Amino acid sequence: MVVLGIESTAHTASVGLIDEGARVLALASDMYRPPAGGIHPREAANHHVDRLPGLVAQALAEAKVGPGDIEAIAFAQGPGLGPCLRAGATVARTLALLWRRPLVPVNHCVAHIEIARALSGLDDPMLLYASGGNTQVIAWGTDRYRVLGETLDVGIGNFLDKLWIAMGGVFPGGPALEAEAKRGTTLVPLPYSVHGMDVAFSGLLTATLAQRARGVSREDLAYSVEVTAYSMLTEITERALAHRRKGSVVLGGGVACNGRLREMVRAMVEGRGGTAFAPPKSLCVDNGAMIAWTGLLAHRAGRSVAVERSGVEPRQRTDQVPAPWRTGAITPRAVAA
Ligand code: AMP
Ligand code: MG
Repeated sequence: MVVLGIESTAHTASVGLIDEGARVLALASDMYRPPAGGIHPREAANHHVDRLPGLVAQALAEAKVGPGDIEAIAFAQGPGLGPCLRAGATVARTLALLWRRPLVPVNHCVAHIEIARALSGLDDPMLLYASGGNTQVIAWGTDRYRVLGETLDVGIGNFLDKLWIAMGGVFPGGPALEAEAKRGTTLVPLPYSVHGMDVAFSGLLTATLAQRARGVSREDLAYSVEVTAYSMLTEITERALAHRRKGSVVLGGGVACNGRLREMVRAMVEGRGGTAFAPPKSLCVDNGAMIAWTGLLAHRAGRSVAVERSGVEPRQRTDQVPAPWRTGAITPRAVAA
């Protein structure tokens, strides 16, 4: 079985092809980069409308498969920017009608955990999902994934991007801050904002910019922001592990490309005797292969949708969508143990 997946929740238009063994047969992606400032949803959507047809053709050519080999079309239904989601959904509907294939809606956050689960071979890991718009600690419940902790304001990636742009840089800020942080030497005290299982970044943004205005170097601030923000994420992940008595953690989202975050989470999890896994960067960031893979699981569980009922859901939450392919994967006893 080969499934085609379309990702278009935010800045990245991507088409992935995957088979039943979770082998990525093709991945064709193109990221919208604003000339200045942050992402304007309409401009990103125009980018996706423009690029997606070519990315579909590129993916088919790369995998050397034709429409006849594709069993289902999956698309990211949400959460994400409305105009961007609609661009991907429109292409997915068109292909489903043209090739007469089932159309399978996929939750973007669930897709991050499913691809990491498949690649890691870990059966029931917790997910630290750290991306531009989302920051969540996710674990399996009884019929769906549950959010154990999350950001109370912006996603960590949006925070890093805003900070970097305000300090004179361009989008995306995360990778540039990572390079800058490597040159930092002094840890500047910054607000550490953990509230139970949740985190917040707006106070950290304000305080960091205030320090910058006082003349603290960009390198030291980048270093201090990374240490502070990634400690917050590592702390809530550790608390979630302790509460749920789980042993393993997988990482997902663009910010999970960060070497310091990967290392901090790995040290914490291994210190507790567990296993940490981060997918390769191409599958950590938004990508069509994870949508295809989750679509394949959902399709096998009978979850396709009629075109007329395939509306996008910009605010769809991780814990709103059942994951029937996992039901029965763990017993209530194992959850309580
Ligand atoms: P996503 O929304 O999952 O595609 O991730 C995009 C976000 O990841 C953007 O906010 C980027 O700034 C951030 N990002 C990408 N690479 C890194 C990195 N190496 N360190 C920190 N953040 C990163
Ligand atoms: Mg994402």
